[in-house]
Amino acid sequence: MLKIRLPDRSILKIQRGTNVYDVAKSIGLGLARDAVAANINGKKVDLHYKIGEECKLKIFTKQSKEAISILNHSAAHLIATVVKNLYPDVKPAIGPSIDSGGFYYDFYSNKPYFKEDLSLFEEKANEIIKLDLPFNRLELYLDQAEVIYSKNRFKMEILQDIKESIVSLYQIGEDGYLDLCKGPHVPSTGKIGAIKILTSSSVHWKGDQGREKLQRIYGIAFFNNKDLISFLKRREEAERRDHRILGPQLDLFDTAKAYGPGMALFYPKGTILWEIIEEFWRKEHRNAGYDIVRTPHLFRENVWEQSGHLDYYKENMYPVDVGKEKWYVKPMNCPGHMMIYNRKSHSYRELPIRLAEFGTVYRYELSGTLNGLLRVRGFTQDDSHIFMLPDQLEEEILGVIKMVDRFYKIFGFQEWIYHLSTRPDKSIGTKEIWDQSTYALKKALNKAKKNYKIKEGEGAFYGPKIDIDVKDALGRMWQLATIQVDFNLPERFDITYMGDDGNYYRPVVIHRVIFGAVDRFIAILLEHYGGKLPLWLSPVQAIVIPITDRNNEYAKFVEKEIRKDGMRVEVDFSPERMEYKIREAQMNHIPYMIIIGQKEEKNNKISIRSRQGKIRKGVMIQDFVSEVHRKVLEYQ
Ligand SMILES: [Zn+2]
Ligand SMILES: [Zn+2]
Repeated sequence: MLKIRLPDRSILKIQRGTNVYDVAKSIGLGLARDAVAANINGKKVDLHYKIGEECKLKIFTKQSKEAISILNHSAAHLIATVVKNLYPDVKPAIGPSIDSGGFYYDFYSNKPYFKEDLSLFEEKANEIIKLDLPFNRLELYLDQAEVIYSKNRFKMEILQDIKESIVSLYQIGEDGYLDLCKGPHVPSTGKIGAIKILTSSSVHWKGDQGREKLQRIYGIAFFNNKDLISFLKRREEAERRDHRILGPQLDLFDTAKAYGPGMALFYPKGTILWEIIEEFWRKEHRNAGYDIVRTPHLFRENVWEQSGHLDYYKENMYPVDVGKEKWYVKPMNCPGHMMIYNRKSHSYRELPIRLAEFGTVYRYELSGTLNGLLRVRGFTQDDSHIFMLPDQLEEEILGVIKMVDRFYKIFGFQEWIYHLSTRPDKSIGTKEIWDQSTYALKKALNKAKKNYKIKEGEGAFYGPKIDIDVKDALGRMWQLATIQVDFNLPERFDITYMGDDGNYYRPVVIHRVIFGAVDRFIAILLEHYGGKLPLWLSPVQAIVIPITDRNNEYAKFVEKEIRKDGMRVEVDFSPERMEYKIREAQMNHIPYMIIIGQKEEKNNKISIRSRQGKIRKGVMIQDFVSEVHRKVLEYQ
């Protein structure tokens, strides 16, 4: 008998050679039904793995993250089999699951895959799912595997990196594609309840532009059809809210390829939204004791040498010839702020000094990674650098955390989570200074009563940091804020303050953003609200709709009255019928429609239709204006 230890620390005795599935069954039929794979002494194995030694055993059930990843990876094998059946000449490369959900498989193929191909793949995959074919595991010597894959240079490259003398291969049924893989997988294709092929794209082997072009097929798998249906619904909703569609549709902005991929044009209405955010930002920062500054978009080469950007960031920077000199467009705002700090000497009494800027930066990104306003080449950060005494760190971090909480709440988010990234293997600065500042970050988080996850070793090489991810209305997480301690830049720019003993010391410096990139924040806001921005953020808060052109004069009067008080209002003078104008305003998500007819004009009143469809008749203009004012103030 073998003793195995379960996660609840209980001990189970089994016959040597019992497989994981039978162990699960002996614990409970429910567990056996939900079991997908297992972890034995830290190694992931299939359910039909035979246990040959005393071990710790954890069974992955359908609900677990591991099981979902194994399911998706198994679905990738299924797609390889399908594609290989249809196109025997295709060379499969790799097919992992994706952390954010789903899987992909890369194929070396002489043709790209179109929509019709993808739906055919999906159809064939579903046929194999119905057959409930097993995932068979085969173990071979490395040189035997090399014979099998001699015509597939991608698998051969993978084999070259394998140190073990025995490798494992998996095959779906008796004649599926024999794929090189460590496993584990679901026991049989029937476990894949539902599969959806999402899209295809072209990529390079190992992400290397100089290597072969591969066709990547993306898909996602679920344990049951219900989950697939709710995924499709969520996806449809996300598509409906896509800022790349809403931006031009609401006449806010666009990022068209023709004039420069990754560069956004903000139209008048988009600029109103931008200004509201910027004005909010400015007021809040002045109140919180920040000094607002402006720095130029270009600096000479030597500035970027001093900052270190040319050593580790050059490939993301745009060089510019200025006369005989080489200058660079700024990818970050830090050097400008360092120079502003250094314009004079500072005493310890002046610290903390908080410099803030709506700073536009430019970074070269591969065109394939660009994505609307979410990933652009030119964007504006709500950047700030805080210079402080070492013992002010905790208090300053706490101040930023409070600001983050206030901002996200005001912009209408319900939930955000904190991460603390600690010292990576390669780093500068002493252990002592890392420990001290990491401790200060932790203390600030604790003081603010924040739960946080630690990302061990994921800090930047120059200091620990806090990241904050926001959850949107569709449950998607977006990393927005970063609070980054920096031991590097103060050295490079010789940042100092004079202590009370007359000697010079290095202050602690943090970089921090709250929106991250303002452009991206606007995209996230739009998707979060599905275009229905709250009243205080709406570029057009009300539209006056005269029922006939006989009411145009009164409509103009109403517009003027409302505008006088700072409300953002437009009039629809188009010759269309009222119903059409209302529908149009509804499509543009304008919070209030002010309907003007004979009756309203005669009584010197207005009728109001909210975008939720609520109608109020015979309202005094001034009452409406004060109501809107009150509502706008409520947000802040
Ligand atoms: Zn596999
Ligand atoms: Zn910075």
